[in-house]
This record gives sequence, structure tokens and C-alpha cells, in this order.
Amino acid sequence: MAGRSLETLSFDNTYARLPETFSVKQNPTPVASAPYLIHVNRTAAELIDLDPEESVRPEFAGVFGGRMLVPGMEPIAMLYSGHQFGVYVPQLGDGRAILLGEAVNHRGERWDLHLKGGGMTPFSRDGDGRAVLRSTIREYLCCAAMRGLGIPTTQALCLVGNDDKVYREQVETGAMLVRMAPSHVRFGTFEIFYYRKQHEHLTVLADYVIGHHYPHLVGVTDAYARFFNEVVERTAALIAQWQAVGWAHGVMNTDNMSILGLTLDYGPFGFMDEYDSGFICNHSDHNGRYAFNQQPYIGLWNLSCLAQALLPLAGKDALKAGLDRYQELYQQQYLRLMRAKLGLREARPEDDGLVREWLGLLEESHADYTIAFRDLSSFSSVEGTANDRVRDHAVNREHFDEWAARYRERLRAENSRDDERCEQMNRVNPKYVLRNYLAQIAIEKAQQKDFSEIDRLFTLLQDPFKDYPGMDSYAAAPPNWGKHLSVSCSS
Ligand code: AMP
Ligand code: MG
Repeated sequence: MAGRSLETLSFDNTYARLPETFSVKQNPTPVASAPYLIHVNRTAAELIDLDPEESVRPEFAGVFGGRMLVPGMEPIAMLYSGHQFGVYVPQLGDGRAILLGEAVNHRGERWDLHLKGGGMTPFSRDGDGRAVLRSTIREYLCCAAMRGLGIPTTQALCLVGNDDKVYREQVETGAMLVRMAPSHVRFGTFEIFYYRKQHEHLTVLADYVIGHHYPHLVGVTDAYARFFNEVVERTAALIAQWQAVGWAHGVMNTDNMSILGLTLDYGPFGFMDEYDSGFICNHSDHNGRYAFNQQPYIGLWNLSCLAQALLPLAGKDALKAGLDRYQELYQQQYLRLMRAKLGLREARPEDDGLVREWLGLLEESHADYTIAFRDLSSFSSVEGTANDRVRDHAVNREHFDEWAARYRERLRAENSRDDERCEQMNRVNPKYVLRNYLAQIAIEKAQQKDFSEIDRLFTLLQDPFKDYPGMDSYAAAPPNWGKHLSVSCSS
């Protein structure tokens, strides 16, 4: 179908029509300098029926750089609260993101257009409502990376720069990003009405989310408990995918947990280079609350906050039963993904041990998580093969040989064919991930107004399983300077 122009996008702003307390009307505050387009995600544009060629018009950067609105937009800042680092904060809300409107495509699908960095809102507290180029590039590229990996995520429509100064730990360049998701409702959106004892609003919110996003539950008995169960399922599945790919979110506060099970709010996230189960990507996270190996547990902790908030709507026992399913669901999903990463088709009791020992080998060897898995696809199950390409990842060759013998036996048990397995494994073990150092190079170039690296990474990450001729250096482990870059919340 022919794409729409900016002015003819179709909007239906259902969230703005919820009771007044749910949000505050808030237009973006224009920046002083002229916004300019840095990158557009054509696939995301197509999701809202927007003709990607529209991005060449100056109005495109005008609208998505916070200068002007198009007909049908009704900008609002959404209210929510949440548990931050384990502590309940009674009011957060969108302090620097503005929901411009809900675009509806020809299939009737609805996409929130959320302008991040659009200026202050009544929820900005001490913040300036702005976003910096550095963090918007990271979010933009990581959304593309997650989508390429098949991990549920918010999308990013475009990246728009400006020449306004933004004051963080140092003076930085400003930018805005348009985030798209079917909904930006978070666990914390439920929490605020629960803790304010506004149970009528809680009901309205739950009915809204169910009506729009879990429509098969409308009118069903125990709809709220079932809804919670589905959120449990989606969250368990999401976090299993993060773990399998070696990604840490960094700030898993309940206000950053999507009610749709999407990866939401990219801050100091990180893909691991060297495998370290206790990897902490956020340098402000001194106690490692959100360390890589804590994420599955934090998922449960966050779900228990949501369960608490749903108590006025659903029976305690039903909610508890939902929570009790989490661990098993998570474990099933995680093992399923890890089996695939090891190229195993069948499920056998020894698989859990095989996965753990392989990870143990990687950890003791400080091996690169992504490269080691990718290289494992070259493993030959022929007796006597040295498998040096894989073996070289291990510091302790004896440990490797013991593990390799068991792996070989396990492969034989399901009559695994090396060539077939290699192909399957290369479809689940990415060659390219958004390593911090790659993002850093793209950021530094962009700060000099060279956006070519953003484009290059965007292309690679859209299909990270493919071999791109001449691009192997992008799949390499970081150089020394890029190994332990510190990333903070300040964005
Ligand atoms: P985050 O760490 O991005 O999840 O943000 C936590 C809360 O702080 C949310 O309510 C944000 O909207 C708000 N916030 C973060 N950065 C800013 C900023 N620069 N200006 C205003 N509010 C902000
Ligand atoms: Mg947030």
C-alpha cells in the first residue's frame, strides 16, 4: 500500500481519553537550534503506514524533533510510579518523553509515537526533559539490534539531532528519538493507582490494557488473574531471551517493565563481551542489583510488585499461583534457547548440565560470549577432531576436552549432522551484536556530524545472523580501550 504523508497519518488517541489523572496534556518544547534528521528506520515507518520518503522533508525533522505537530496528534505525558532499585517512588511519570499520539495503520494496529527528549513535563522533577545524542544513538541502535535478534522490544522510528547543549556530567549534544510500541503502559502504571488507593482507576487501566492488548481475555472469568498470568509468561520469555543473548538491561526498575513484555527503556544496557555471569553494565549500580545473573530473579521481584498492585482486582491465591509459575516458565524458555544455541534438537535431562559447563568454561576463560557461541557451530562431532577454533576459547584445554567429549556424545545421541547443525546454529547465534565499543565509535563520529557509522551498524544489526563480506571486524572482540567502557544512567 502507498505510504501516507506526515499530515495524513491516522491517529486514534485512546490513552488521552482515559480519566484525566492518567496523563497531562503536554506539547513538546522546541529546542532553540534547528533539528536535523540523523537516521530513519524505514521498517518502523511502514508499521504506521508512513511513507519513508517523507523523511527527506524538513517537516519530518520538525515533527519528530519536537518543533511542530501534525493533525491528529494530542501530546500527553503519562503518569506512573515504580520501584527504583527496590524502593517505591510514589510518582515518576514521563519526565522527558511525550506521547505524541497513537498512530493507527491500515491493519488497525495502533502504535504509540513517543518523543523522547521532547522537553520538560510536570513529571520532570529535577530533570531538563532532554536527551543526549549519546544515549539516543545507543537506544536507536539497540532497538534495531533486539529486533534483529527476534527479541520483543519497543521500536525506534527515527533519530533527530539538534545543536542545543545539554548539561550532564559534561556538556553534550542534544537529540530526540521517536519510540514506538503498541503501548507504553508499565508495571509502574498499575502501581501508582494501587498505592494511591485509586482502585477505580486501577480497574479502568486493567480494562484498557486487556481490551486493547489482551482482547482474548475480555469478558472471560478471572480475566485479571489470567491477564497477570500472561504478563508472567511474557516477562519470563523476555528475560530468557536476554540471558541467552548475553544482554543486560541495567535498570530493571518496575517503571521500566513493559506490560506487554517488551524490552523497554534503554539506558546503560550492555551486551557482554567476555562472559561474566555477574556482569554489571550500569556503573551506578554499586551493589549489582541488576547484574546479568540477577535479571531472572529481578523479573520475578518486579512481577510480585505488579501482583501486589493487582490485589484489589484479582484473588491473592490466583496471583500467587501466577507468580509461582514464573521460575519454571523462565527455566523452560531459557533451556529451550540454550539448547538451540548448542545446536541440540531434542530435549534431554543432561542438557542443563551441558549448558552450565559450557558457560563455566567460557567464564573461566574470559571468552567472548558471542564469538564463542558462533564458533561452536564449527564443532565437528567426528572422533579425534581437535576442534581448535572452539578449543582456543578455553584456557584450560583439559576442561574443554572433557566437555567436548560429552557434547560429541550428546550430538551423536540425536544423530546430529554437522553441516545441518552448523546452519541451524548460525541462525540463532548472532555474528554481530551492539558491543559497547561499536556504539561508542558511532557516537564519537556522530558528535563530529558523521553519521555513517550509525547507518553501517543499523544495517548489520537488522540481520545479525548473516555474514556481511568485508565486515568481519564488526564481529570482533573489543580492542583494549573498548573493553570496560563505563555506562551510567545519566542520559
Ligand atoms: P529512566 O531512568 O530513564 O527510566 O528514568 C526514570 C525517571 O526519570 C522517569 O520518570 C524519567 O522520565 C525521568 N527522567 C530521566 N531523565 C530525565 C530528564 N533528563 N529530564 C526529566 N526527567 C527525566
Ligand atoms: Mg524509565
